[in-house]
Amino acid sequence: MRIAIIGAGMGGLTAASLLADQGHEITIFDQFDTPKPVGSGLVIQPVGQQVLAEVGALETALSYGNRVTHMLGIEAQNGKRVLDVKYDLVDPNAYGLAIHRAALFDALWKAMLTRDGITLTTASDVTSVRQDDDSIEVFTATHDVHGPFDLCIDSSGAGSPLSPIKSKPLGYGAIWGTVDWPETEIPKHHLSQRYVKASHMIGALPIGHIPGQNGFKAAVFWSLPSDSYAAWQDAGLDAWKAEATTLWPALAPFVNQITDADQMTMARYTHGTLNRPYSNRLVHIGDAAHRASPQLGQGANMALLDALALSRALNTRPLTQALPAFARARRLHTKIYQAMSWAFTPMYQSDSALLPLIRDRALFPISQIPPTPRILTSLVCGTMVPPIGRL
Ligand SMILES: Cc1cc2nc3c(=O)[nH]c(=O)nc-3n(C[C@H](O)[C@H](O)[C@H](O)COP(=O)(O)OP(=O)(O)OC[C@H]3O[C@@H](n4cnc5c(N)ncnc54)[C@H](O)[C@@H]3O)c2cc1C
Repeated sequence: MRIAIIGAGMGGLTAASLLADQGHEITIFDQFDTPKPVGSGLVIQPVGQQVLAEVGALETALSYGNRVTHMLGIEAQNGKRVLDVKYDLVDPNAYGLAIHRAALFDALWKAMLTRDGITLTTASDVTSVRQDDDSIEVFTATHDVHGPFDLCIDSSGAGSPLSPIKSKPLGYGAIWGTVDWPETEIPKHHLSQRYVKASHMIGALPIGHIPGQNGFKAAVFWSLPSDSYAAWQDAGLDAWKAEATTLWPALAPFVNQITDADQMTMARYTHGTLNRPYSNRLVHIGDAAHRASPQLGQGANMALLDALALSRALNTRPLTQALPAFARARRLHTKIYQAMSWAFTPMYQSDSALLPLIRDRALFPISQIPPTPRILTSLVCGTMVPPIGRL
Protein backbone atom coordinates (compact mmCIF):
# COMPACT_ATOMS: atom_id res chain seq x y z
CA MET A 1 0.00 0.00 0.00
CA ARG A 2 0.94 3.67 -0.29
CA ILE A 3 0.67 4.97 3.25
CA ALA A 4 0.82 8.59 4.44
CA ILE A 5 1.89 9.12 8.05
CA ILE A 6 1.16 12.54 9.54
CA GLY A 7 3.66 13.37 12.29
CA ALA A 8 7.19 12.04 12.80
CA GLY A 9 6.78 11.69 16.55
CA MET A 10 6.87 8.60 18.74
CA GLY A 11 3.94 6.80 17.11
CA GLY A 12 4.63 7.98 13.54
CA LEU A 13 8.29 6.91 13.43
CA THR A 14 7.45 3.54 14.97
CA ALA A 15 4.62 2.90 12.51
CA ALA A 16 6.84 3.95 9.60
CA SER A 17 9.53 1.39 10.48
CA LEU A 18 7.13 -1.47 11.16
CA LEU A 19 5.08 -0.87 8.01
CA ALA A 20 8.15 -0.39 5.79
CA ASP A 21 9.25 -3.85 6.99
CA GLN A 22 5.99 -5.20 5.53
CA GLY A 23 6.90 -3.70 2.13
CA HIS A 24 4.55 -0.71 2.16
CA GLU A 25 5.57 2.60 0.57
CA ILE A 26 5.62 5.21 3.32
CA THR A 27 5.52 9.01 3.12
CA ILE A 28 5.87 10.82 6.44
CA PHE A 29 4.74 14.44 6.69
CA ASP A 30 5.85 16.66 9.54
CA GLN A 31 5.50 20.35 10.17
CA PHE A 32 9.11 20.71 11.35
CA ASP A 33 11.79 22.02 8.98
CA THR A 34 14.44 19.67 10.29
CA PRO A 35 13.73 16.75 12.60
CA LYS A 36 13.59 18.13 16.13
CA PRO A 37 11.54 16.86 19.02
CA VAL A 38 10.50 19.36 21.68
CA GLY A 39 10.03 18.73 25.38
CA SER A 40 11.92 17.21 28.22
CA GLY A 41 12.04 13.80 29.84
CA LEU A 42 9.65 10.89 29.87
CA VAL A 43 9.59 7.29 30.99
CA ILE A 44 9.31 4.37 28.61
CA GLN A 45 7.69 1.57 30.56
CA PRO A 46 8.41 -2.15 30.03
CA VAL A 47 5.56 -2.46 27.48
CA GLY A 48 7.01 0.43 25.50
CA GLN A 49 10.51 -1.02 25.73
CA GLN A 50 9.24 -4.19 24.04
CA VAL A 51 7.98 -2.12 21.11
CA LEU A 52 11.34 -0.31 20.90
CA ALA A 53 13.02 -3.72 20.77
CA GLU A 54 10.71 -4.84 17.97
CA VAL A 55 11.58 -1.71 15.94
CA GLY A 56 15.31 -2.11 16.64
CA ALA A 57 15.52 1.11 18.65
CA LEU A 58 15.92 -0.24 22.19
CA GLU A 59 19.69 -0.59 22.19
CA THR A 60 20.22 3.05 21.13
CA ALA A 61 17.56 4.24 23.57
CA LEU A 62 19.29 2.33 26.39
CA SER A 63 22.64 3.84 25.45
CA TYR A 64 21.18 7.31 26.04
CA GLY A 65 18.58 6.78 28.76
CA ASN A 66 18.68 5.78 32.39
CA ARG A 67 17.04 2.89 34.22
CA VAL A 68 14.76 3.90 37.07
CA THR A 69 13.70 1.19 39.49
CA HIS A 70 11.55 3.15 41.89
CA MET A 71 8.99 5.98 41.83
CA LEU A 72 8.91 7.77 45.15
CA GLY A 73 6.69 10.70 46.16
CA ILE A 74 6.81 12.31 49.59
CA GLU A 75 4.48 14.83 51.24
CA ALA A 76 6.87 17.72 51.93
CA GLN A 77 5.07 18.95 55.05
CA ASN A 78 5.20 15.73 57.04
CA GLY A 79 7.85 13.66 55.24
CA LYS A 80 5.43 10.76 54.71
CA ARG A 81 5.40 8.68 51.53
CA VAL A 82 2.37 9.22 49.30
CA LEU A 83 3.60 7.31 46.25
CA ASP A 84 5.94 4.33 46.34
CA VAL A 85 6.12 2.05 43.32
CA LYS A 86 8.94 -0.41 42.76
CA TYR A 87 9.40 -1.77 39.25
CA ASP A 88 10.81 -5.15 40.27
CA LEU A 89 7.82 -6.55 42.20
CA VAL A 90 6.35 -8.52 39.29
CA ASP A 91 9.42 -9.00 37.10
CA PRO A 92 12.75 -8.66 38.93
CA ASN A 93 14.39 -7.33 35.75
CA ALA A 94 11.80 -4.64 35.04
CA TYR A 95 12.67 -0.94 35.05
CA GLY A 96 11.41 2.32 33.63
CA LEU A 97 13.61 3.79 30.90
CA ALA A 98 13.86 7.49 31.73
CA ILE A 99 14.93 9.33 28.60
CA HIS A 100 14.95 12.77 27.04
CA ARG A 101 12.51 13.12 24.17
CA ALA A 102 15.37 14.08 21.84
CA ALA A 103 17.18 10.85 22.73
CA LEU A 104 14.08 8.71 22.16
CA PHE A 105 13.45 10.51 18.91
CA ASP A 106 17.06 9.89 17.85
CA ALA A 107 16.75 6.17 18.60
CA LEU A 108 13.50 5.84 16.60
CA TRP A 109 14.88 8.03 13.82
CA LYS A 110 18.06 5.95 13.43
CA ALA A 111 15.99 2.76 13.40
CA MET A 112 13.80 4.25 10.66
CA LEU A 113 16.84 5.19 8.54
CA THR A 114 17.82 1.50 8.32
CA ARG A 115 14.61 0.82 6.34
CA ASP A 116 13.98 1.30 2.62
CA GLY A 117 10.79 2.74 1.21
CA ILE A 118 10.29 5.68 3.59
CA THR A 119 10.17 9.29 2.36
CA LEU A 120 10.09 12.22 4.80
CA THR A 121 8.41 15.45 3.71
CA THR A 122 9.33 18.23 6.12
CA ALA A 123 7.86 21.74 6.51
CA SER A 124 4.46 20.20 5.72
CA ASP A 125 1.80 21.54 8.04
CA VAL A 126 -1.02 19.12 7.27
CA THR A 127 -4.44 20.72 7.59
CA SER A 128 -6.91 18.14 6.27
CA VAL A 129 -7.49 15.00 4.25
CA ARG A 130 -10.08 14.08 1.61
CA GLN A 131 -11.07 10.47 1.23
CA ASP A 132 -13.41 8.33 -0.83
CA ASP A 133 -13.84 4.57 -1.05
CA ASP A 134 -10.66 4.09 -3.10
CA SER A 135 -8.07 6.54 -1.81
CA ILE A 136 -7.17 9.41 0.51
CA GLU A 137 -5.36 12.70 -0.22
CA VAL A 138 -3.43 14.92 2.18
CA PHE A 139 -3.67 18.74 2.14
CA THR A 140 -1.13 21.15 3.67
CA ALA A 141 -1.31 24.77 4.82
CA THR A 142 0.54 25.81 1.66
CA HIS A 143 -2.34 24.33 -0.38
CA ASP A 144 -0.26 21.42 -1.65
CA VAL A 145 -2.16 18.21 -2.30
CA HIS A 146 -0.33 14.90 -1.76
CA GLY A 147 -1.47 11.49 -2.82
CA PRO A 148 -3.52 9.56 -3.60
CA PHE A 149 -2.68 7.15 -0.76
CA ASP A 150 -4.36 3.89 0.24
CA LEU A 151 -4.21 4.76 3.94
CA CYS A 152 -3.43 7.81 6.09
CA ILE A 153 -2.17 7.36 9.66
CA ASP A 154 -2.74 10.39 11.86
CA SER A 155 0.07 10.45 14.42
CA SER A 156 0.20 14.24 14.70
CA GLY A 157 -0.13 14.26 18.48
CA ALA A 158 -2.26 16.25 20.89
CA GLY A 159 -2.84 19.12 18.43
CA SER A 160 -4.02 16.85 15.60
CA PRO A 161 -5.90 18.79 12.91
CA LEU A 162 -7.40 15.52 11.64
CA SER A 163 -8.75 13.90 14.78
CA PRO A 164 -12.41 14.44 15.77
CA ILE A 165 -11.46 13.83 19.43
CA LYS A 166 -13.20 15.98 22.03
CA SER A 167 -10.81 16.51 24.92
CA LYS A 168 -11.12 18.38 28.19
CA PRO A 169 -8.39 20.76 29.34
CA LEU A 170 -7.04 19.70 32.74
CA GLY A 171 -6.77 22.25 35.55
CA TYR A 172 -3.08 21.62 36.15
CA GLY A 173 -0.09 21.37 33.82
CA ALA A 174 3.60 21.65 34.64
CA ILE A 175 6.71 23.55 33.70
CA TRP A 176 9.55 21.31 32.59
CA GLY A 177 13.26 21.97 32.18
CA THR A 178 16.44 19.99 31.56
CA VAL A 179 19.51 20.55 33.73
CA ASP A 180 22.79 18.77 34.48
CA TRP A 181 22.58 16.09 37.16
CA PRO A 182 24.47 17.71 40.05
CA GLU A 183 26.29 16.36 43.09
CA THR A 184 23.28 15.31 45.13
CA GLU A 185 21.94 12.85 47.65
CA ILE A 186 18.94 12.13 45.36
CA PRO A 187 19.38 8.63 43.89
CA LYS A 188 20.00 8.37 40.16
CA HIS A 189 17.70 5.37 39.82
CA HIS A 190 14.60 7.01 41.34
CA LEU A 191 11.89 9.23 39.95
CA SER A 192 11.70 11.49 43.02
CA GLN A 193 8.83 13.83 43.78
CA ARG A 194 7.68 16.06 46.64
CA TYR A 195 4.10 17.17 47.16
CA VAL A 196 2.17 19.65 49.24
CA LYS A 197 -1.40 18.36 49.17
CA ALA A 198 -2.19 18.14 45.43
CA SER A 199 -1.56 21.79 44.68
CA HIS A 200 2.24 21.63 44.66
CA MET A 201 4.49 19.02 43.11
CA ILE A 202 8.15 19.19 42.23
CA GLY A 203 10.14 16.35 40.80
CA ALA A 204 13.45 15.27 39.32
CA LEU A 205 13.71 12.54 36.70
CA PRO A 206 17.25 11.25 35.96
CA ILE A 207 17.13 10.95 32.15
CA GLY A 208 20.71 10.12 31.19
CA HIS A 209 22.27 11.57 28.06
CA ILE A 210 21.08 13.79 25.23
CA PRO A 211 22.53 13.21 21.73
CA GLY A 212 25.23 15.80 21.02
CA GLN A 213 25.47 17.04 24.61
CA ASN A 214 27.84 16.19 27.41
CA GLY A 215 26.93 14.90 30.83
CA PHE A 216 24.12 13.12 32.64
CA LYS A 217 20.90 15.13 32.71
CA ALA A 218 17.81 15.57 34.86
CA ALA A 219 14.33 16.66 33.85
CA VAL A 220 12.94 18.97 36.52
CA PHE A 221 9.22 19.63 36.71
CA TRP A 222 6.97 21.88 38.78
CA SER A 223 3.20 21.57 38.83
CA LEU A 224 1.33 24.72 37.84
CA PRO A 225 -2.35 25.54 37.29
CA SER A 226 -2.84 25.69 33.53
CA ASP A 227 -3.76 29.39 33.59
CA SER A 228 -0.91 30.45 35.92
CA TYR A 229 2.09 30.46 33.61
CA ALA A 230 1.99 34.24 33.03
CA ALA A 231 1.72 34.84 36.79
CA TRP A 232 4.69 32.47 37.35
CA GLN A 233 6.74 34.45 34.84
CA ASP A 234 5.70 37.79 36.39
CA ALA A 235 6.63 36.65 39.90
CA GLY A 236 10.21 36.09 38.74
CA LEU A 237 12.60 33.16 38.95
CA ASP A 238 13.91 34.02 42.42
CA ALA A 239 10.44 33.76 43.95
CA TRP A 240 9.94 30.34 42.36
CA LYS A 241 13.37 29.06 43.36
CA ALA A 242 12.78 30.18 46.95
CA GLU A 243 9.40 28.38 47.04
CA ALA A 244 10.73 25.24 45.37
CA THR A 245 13.81 24.90 47.55
CA THR A 246 11.83 25.60 50.73
CA LEU A 247 9.54 22.77 49.72
CA TRP A 248 12.49 20.49 48.90
CA PRO A 249 15.91 21.85 49.93
CA ALA A 250 17.78 18.96 48.24
CA LEU A 251 16.55 20.18 44.88
CA ALA A 252 18.50 23.47 45.14
CA PRO A 253 21.44 22.31 42.95
CA PHE A 254 18.92 21.42 40.23
CA VAL A 255 16.73 24.54 40.24
CA ASN A 256 19.70 26.87 40.73
CA GLN A 257 20.79 25.92 37.22
CA ILE A 258 17.67 27.64 35.90
CA THR A 259 18.81 31.20 35.22
CA ASP A 260 16.28 32.14 32.55
CA ALA A 261 12.53 31.51 32.68
CA ASP A 262 12.71 30.26 29.09
CA GLN A 263 14.61 27.19 30.32
CA MET A 264 11.28 25.99 31.75
CA THR A 265 8.58 25.11 29.20
CA MET A 266 4.91 25.08 30.12
CA ALA A 267 3.07 21.87 29.21
CA ARG A 268 -0.74 21.96 29.46
CA TYR A 269 -2.60 18.67 29.50
CA THR A 270 -5.93 17.54 28.09
CA HIS A 271 -7.91 14.35 28.54
CA GLY A 272 -10.00 12.58 25.93
CA THR A 273 -10.42 9.33 24.02
CA LEU A 274 -11.75 8.57 20.55
CA ASN A 275 -14.28 5.75 20.72
CA ARG A 276 -13.68 4.86 17.09
CA PRO A 277 -10.12 5.81 16.10
CA TYR A 278 -10.63 5.30 12.36
CA SER A 279 -12.89 6.23 9.49
CA ASN A 280 -12.64 4.54 6.14
CA ARG A 281 -8.97 5.13 5.14
CA LEU A 282 -7.91 7.38 8.02
CA VAL A 283 -6.69 5.96 11.35
CA HIS A 284 -5.59 7.89 14.45
CA ILE A 285 -2.86 6.65 16.80
CA GLY A 286 -1.10 8.04 19.89
CA ASP A 287 -2.17 11.39 21.31
CA ALA A 288 -4.33 11.97 18.22
CA ALA A 289 -6.54 9.10 19.48
CA HIS A 290 -6.25 9.46 23.28
CA ARG A 291 -4.75 12.10 25.56
CA ALA A 292 -4.17 12.16 29.27
CA SER A 293 -2.00 13.86 31.87
CA PRO A 294 1.47 12.30 32.08
CA GLN A 295 0.87 11.37 35.74
CA LEU A 296 0.91 7.62 34.96
CA GLY A 297 3.76 8.02 32.45
CA GLN A 298 1.99 6.10 29.67
CA GLY A 299 1.45 8.49 26.71
CA ALA A 300 4.51 7.63 24.62
CA ASN A 301 4.06 3.95 25.48
CA MET A 302 0.48 4.06 24.22
CA ALA A 303 1.64 5.65 20.95
CA LEU A 304 4.25 2.89 20.50
CA LEU A 305 1.67 0.17 21.29
CA ASP A 306 -0.85 1.69 18.86
CA ALA A 307 1.78 1.65 16.10
CA LEU A 308 2.63 -1.99 16.79
CA ALA A 309 -1.03 -3.10 16.98
CA LEU A 310 -1.85 -1.27 13.76
CA SER A 311 1.08 -2.83 11.91
CA ARG A 312 0.07 -6.31 13.12
CA ALA A 313 -3.54 -5.76 12.06
CA LEU A 314 -2.45 -4.55 8.61
CA ASN A 315 -0.12 -7.51 8.26
CA THR A 316 -2.87 -10.06 8.83
CA ARG A 317 -5.99 -8.53 7.27
CA PRO A 318 -7.23 -6.47 4.31
CA LEU A 319 -7.53 -2.75 5.08
CA THR A 320 -11.30 -2.77 5.62
CA GLN A 321 -10.96 -5.37 8.37
CA ALA A 322 -7.59 -4.24 9.70
CA LEU A 323 -8.67 -0.85 11.07
CA PRO A 324 -11.59 -2.20 13.17
CA ALA A 325 -9.34 -5.08 14.31
CA PHE A 326 -6.66 -2.59 15.40
CA ALA A 327 -9.24 -0.58 17.33
CA ARG A 328 -10.59 -3.68 19.06
CA ALA A 329 -7.10 -4.90 19.94
CA ARG A 330 -6.21 -1.66 21.70
CA ARG A 331 -9.64 -0.83 23.21
CA LEU A 332 -9.40 -2.46 26.65
CA HIS A 333 -5.87 -1.29 27.44
CA THR A 334 -6.58 2.25 26.29
CA LYS A 335 -9.89 2.47 28.21
CA ILE A 336 -8.39 1.15 31.44
CA TYR A 337 -5.38 3.47 31.34
CA GLN A 338 -7.45 6.50 30.36
CA ALA A 339 -9.81 5.76 33.26
CA MET A 340 -6.93 5.27 35.72
CA SER A 341 -5.29 8.49 34.62
CA TRP A 342 -8.61 10.35 34.99
CA ALA A 343 -9.11 8.92 38.48
CA PHE A 344 -5.55 9.34 39.80
CA THR A 345 -4.45 12.69 38.34
CA PRO A 346 -6.57 14.89 40.69
CA MET A 347 -5.03 13.08 43.69
CA TYR A 348 -1.68 14.53 42.67
CA GLN A 349 -2.56 17.64 40.69
CA SER A 350 -5.63 19.62 41.75
CA ASP A 351 -6.91 22.26 44.16
CA SER A 352 -8.87 19.68 46.10
CA ALA A 353 -8.22 19.47 49.84
CA LEU A 354 -10.19 16.22 50.17
CA LEU A 355 -8.53 14.10 47.46
CA PRO A 356 -4.95 14.38 48.78
CA LEU A 357 -6.36 13.59 52.24
CA ILE A 358 -7.95 10.41 50.86
CA ARG A 359 -4.66 9.71 49.05
CA ASP A 360 -2.56 10.06 52.20
CA ARG A 361 -4.91 8.53 54.80
CA ALA A 362 -6.57 5.74 52.81
CA LEU A 363 -5.11 5.02 49.37
CA PHE A 364 -1.42 5.03 50.28
CA PRO A 365 -1.84 2.74 53.32
CA ILE A 366 -3.98 0.36 51.22
CA SER A 367 -1.40 0.51 48.43
CA GLN A 368 1.15 -1.02 50.80
CA ILE A 369 -0.97 -4.08 51.64
CA PRO A 370 -0.30 -7.13 49.41
CA PRO A 371 -1.24 -7.76 46.66
CA THR A 372 -1.79 -4.02 45.92
CA PRO A 373 1.93 -3.18 45.49
CA ARG A 374 2.18 -5.75 42.70
CA ILE A 375 -1.00 -4.41 41.06
CA LEU A 376 0.43 -0.88 41.16
CA THR A 377 3.68 -2.11 39.63
CA SER A 378 1.72 -3.75 36.79
CA LEU A 379 -0.23 -0.53 36.33
CA VAL A 380 2.94 1.52 35.96
CA CYS A 381 4.67 -1.10 33.78
CA GLY A 382 1.70 -0.92 31.39
CA THR A 383 0.83 -4.60 31.83
CA MET A 384 -2.23 -4.46 34.10
CA VAL A 385 -4.29 -5.74 31.16
CA PRO A 386 -2.91 -7.19 27.90
CA PRO A 387 -1.55 -4.18 25.96
CA ILE A 388 -2.64 -5.60 22.63
CA GLY A 389 -5.69 -7.84 22.46
CA ARG A 390 -6.08 -10.84 20.19
CA LEU A 391 -5.50 -10.07 16.51
C1 LIG B 1 5.52 17.24 29.84
C2 LIG B 1 5.16 15.88 29.32
C3 LIG B 1 5.63 14.74 29.99
C4 LIG B 1 5.32 13.48 29.52
N1 LIG B 1 5.79 12.38 30.18
C5 LIG B 1 5.53 11.14 29.67
C6 LIG B 1 6.07 9.95 30.28
O1 LIG B 1 6.76 9.99 31.30
N2 LIG B 1 5.82 8.75 29.69
C7 LIG B 1 5.09 8.66 28.55
O2 LIG B 1 4.91 7.55 28.04
N3 LIG B 1 4.54 9.76 27.97
C8 LIG B 1 4.75 10.99 28.49
N4 LIG B 1 4.22 12.09 27.89
C9 LIG B 1 3.33 11.93 26.75
C10 LIG B 1 4.06 11.66 25.44
O3 LIG B 1 5.06 12.62 25.22
C11 LIG B 1 3.05 11.65 24.32
O4 LIG B 1 1.94 10.88 24.69
C12 LIG B 1 3.67 11.05 23.05
O5 LIG B 1 4.75 11.83 22.60
C13 LIG B 1 2.62 10.94 21.96
O6 LIG B 1 3.21 10.46 20.79
P1 LIG B 1 2.56 10.81 19.40
O7 LIG B 1 3.35 10.06 18.37
O8 LIG B 1 1.10 10.62 19.45
O9 LIG B 1 2.77 12.38 19.22
P2 LIG B 1 4.13 13.29 19.29
O10 LIG B 1 5.23 12.45 19.76
O11 LIG B 1 3.70 14.48 20.01
O12 LIG B 1 4.39 13.58 17.76
C14 LIG B 1 3.54 14.38 16.97
C15 LIG B 1 4.32 14.81 15.73
O13 LIG B 1 3.38 15.37 14.81
C16 LIG B 1 3.90 16.56 14.26
N5 LIG B 1 2.75 17.37 13.88
C17 LIG B 1 1.86 17.95 14.72
N6 LIG B 1 0.91 18.61 14.01
C18 LIG B 1 1.22 18.43 12.70
C19 LIG B 1 0.63 18.88 11.49
N7 LIG B 1 -0.49 19.62 11.47
N8 LIG B 1 1.21 18.53 10.32
C20 LIG B 1 2.35 17.77 10.31
N9 LIG B 1 2.95 17.34 11.44
C21 LIG B 1 2.39 17.66 12.61
C22 LIG B 1 4.75 17.15 15.37
O14 LIG B 1 5.74 18.04 14.86
C23 LIG B 1 5.36 15.89 15.99
O15 LIG B 1 6.58 15.55 15.37
C24 LIG B 1 4.50 13.36 28.37
C25 LIG B 1 4.02 14.49 27.70
C26 LIG B 1 4.34 15.74 28.19
C27 LIG B 1 3.81 16.96 27.47
